[in-house]
Amino acid sequence: MQKHYPLLKICKILIVCLFMSAVYAQDNDELPIFDTHVHYNDDAWITYPPEEILKKMEKANVPHALVSSSPDEGTRKLYQLDSDRIIPFLRPYYGDVNPSNWFDKADMMLYFRQRMETITYGGIGEFHLHGIAHADTPVVRQTARLAAERDLYLHVHSDAEVVKVIFTYEPEVKILWAHAGLLESPEVVSRMMDKHRNLWVDISIREYEIAPQGKLDPSWQALFLRHPERITIGSDTYIPTRWGMYEKIIEFDRHWLNQLPREVAEKISYRNALRLFGQN
Ligand SMILES: [Zn+2]
Repeated sequence: MQKHYPLLKICKILIVCLFMSAVYAQDNDELPIFDTHVHYNDDAWITYPPEEILKKMEKANVPHALVSSSPDEGTRKLYQLDSDRIIPFLRPYYGDVNPSNWFDKADMMLYFRQRMETITYGGIGEFHLHGIAHADTPVVRQTARLAAERDLYLHVHSDAEVVKVIFTYEPEVKILWAHAGLLESPEVVSRMMDKHRNLWVDISIREYEIAPQGKLDPSWQALFLRHPERITIGSDTYIPTRWGMYEKIIEFDRHWLNQLPREVAEKISYRNALRLFGQN
């Protein structure tokens, strides 16, 4: 069936596109970065107030950032200040809910639904699942169902086996795979991406493997050239010291990105993420 867009919606899309191209206009060769792995956890709030975080992003030429936080209030602090720049993701962790128990918490769905009433999230996560026993619980199945129903991304920190399990019970869900599986090799990541068309990958925390001593590693390069459309950059500010290094992390990513063909580098640095999350 043909889809009809009301005039108002077409105008909105045009305005967003114009705005995006202005935001990403490059007056030199510096690649803008859409940072798809940011946390603003409570242990960073005093040392780095929200205004300072946004200044850091501005200084590092990060026009957009996908943010999730422990607790979710951290994300909201940034979102309230700059809702154009910040794409909020809903993290399950708060109070005594943490990476080691969220997948078994009976009231998780209620928490998600309540938070979703007040702001529009781009996805759920980043959450941790260590092993398939954690990934196949009623709560995680319901979380994946909720994401699929609402067209949200799951931002998953796990190994390849967990990703496979989630796709087995929820084949249509969209997964942004944090840290490219953290311990998985680029070859495994590449095979996973060959197999699962709804799998995107953020490379956060892998930067020094990707470019040891600053030089792009050939096996990572092969992954980037094979899947240039589904890979994104991430800083992963999971501890306050990562905020202290923020500009350096982004600068390092830019350094190895510049060793790729320009078209591929632009896709990975911001175009892919803009396509996924830009119209949030
Ligand atoms: Zn992570």
